[in-house]
Amino acid sequence: LRTELSHVERLSLVGQMAAGITHEIRNPMAVVRGFLQLMREKSPSNLDHYYRIVMEELDRANGIINDFLSLAQNRPVESEKCSLHDIIMELSPLLWADANLRGQTIEIRLSELVPPLLLNAKEIKQLILNLSRNAMEAMGTKGQLTLETRLTEFGVELLVTDTGPGISPNQQEKLFEPFYTTKEQGTGLGLALCLSIVERHGGKISVHSEQGKGTSFTVFFPFT
Ligand code: ADP
Ligand code: MG
Repeated sequence: LRTELSHVERLSLVGQMAAGITHEIRNPMAVVRGFLQLMREKSPSNLDHYYRIVMEELDRANGIINDFLSLAQNRPVESEKCSLHDIIMELSPLLWADANLRGQTIEIRLSELVPPLLLNAKEIKQLILNLSRNAMEAMGTKGQLTLETRLTEFGVELLVTDTGPGISPNQQEKLFEPFYTTKEQGTGLGLALCLSIVERHGGKISVHSEQGKGTSFTVFFPFT
């Protein structure tokens, strides 16, 4: 009971509202998704193309709601000792598939002797995915995404680097603000969520960019 209470206490008013609203939205969306699936099974038709679009958009909306919820709730991280490299390697087929579709390449350079870190694997996956997706979306064909780890005296650095157009100093100030986006289909929640994940892990995230050359996001995880 004690832990439940302190958890409730930790939820801010915004967090509680977000949880309530997202719950109320997610339920009807799940029902719509279910019935859509049923309709398609009961009467297969030439509407398959529309069906796929509707499903994709439902999933996209769900993703936005989930991102928004994790941001607003700002829960303390539930972490355990795990290998950052294992997480990267588990993600790599997914990243490669995405890169292949775009005609881009990926280089992974993992430092030796990186010790296990206190991480929430699911959140770190999302962090790497968000940074990598942004990198790929910024680059044209032939772009190269590099994932790299470095061992420092105080912790481990993860670098996500692209060969895209870069980000102006003016834009760099706004990157991590929720809802800041320059994309037509963007939500602007990706980097805000990255910042929240990193800070809740006791880490730091920074960006270095050279216009016309590319961008590099550096995430620092301290030893614990
Ligand atoms: P979204 O991807 O939905 O736009 P994000 O929070 O992930 O939201 O990113 C915010 C904005 O930061 C993007 O719209 C883009 O303008 C900029 N950005 C992020 N990563 C990069 C990158 N690697 N290269 C260039 N611009 C980037
Ligand atoms: Mg993004």
